[in-house]
Amino acid sequence: MIAIHDFYKRVGESATEAFLAIDTKDLQGILIGGPSPTKEEFMEGGFLHHELQHKVLGAVDVSYTDESGLYELVDAAQDQLFELELTQDKVVMRRFMKELVSEKGLAAYGESEVRHNLELGAVEVLLLSEDLRKTRTKIECTNRSCDFSEEQTRTSASSLPGNCLKCGSALAVTEEEDIVSNLSQLADKSSATVKIISTEFEEGAQLFKAFGGIAAILRYKTGHI
Ligand SMILES: [Zn+2]
Repeated sequence: MIAIHDFYKRVGESATEAFLAIDTKDLQGILIGGPSPTKEEFMEGGFLHHELQHKVLGAVDVSYTDESGLYELVDAAQDQLFELELTQDKVVMRRFMKELVSEKGLAAYGESEVRHNLELGAVEVLLLSEDLRKTRTKIECTNRSCDFSEEQTRTSASSLPGNCLKCGSALAVTEEEDIVSNLSQLADKSSATVKIISTEFEEGAQLFKAFGGIAAILRYKTGHI
């Protein structure tokens, strides 16, 4: 019993030394793995620093004692990791909803408004629905002596680009990019955080249905366009 107690203590000390050095907002969670009942004894024995204790997502059975045990742990903890992501999505969506109704109003939604705010560098967090299926395209006139071109957001249901407003010739799609990558690149320019939001919870489904799958929490208010 004393030997195992010492072992837990050593594991706890190593974990504390390694994890306390990480910024708490970067340390998203701790998974504990081991054969029963060691992982339970370790968790309940208070061997982890108290600040780390509440970061524990759960414990799973692991049989390997070498490095492959770590892979086994991450594999076995898929449910906990999915829950963690969902929780983070929920927190950020609630923050958006709160901003939406607050007087400060640090929220924007819909592609054109969000794009406008991204271009101003006013976006803190860009929220994109995981179900978003659109492309950002460049449309150009096929008449070589005409210089008409524009950017359009299209879906697989969009009709053909039609004819040029300037000369009447046919228009063609000349460049096409997934909207998630298009907006993410814009976000990177002003160091905005990009969050891909699951639709498997109420606010996440709402982001897709009510806000066109594109929304933002702003750094400062810029007014509607
Ligand atoms: Zn034209």
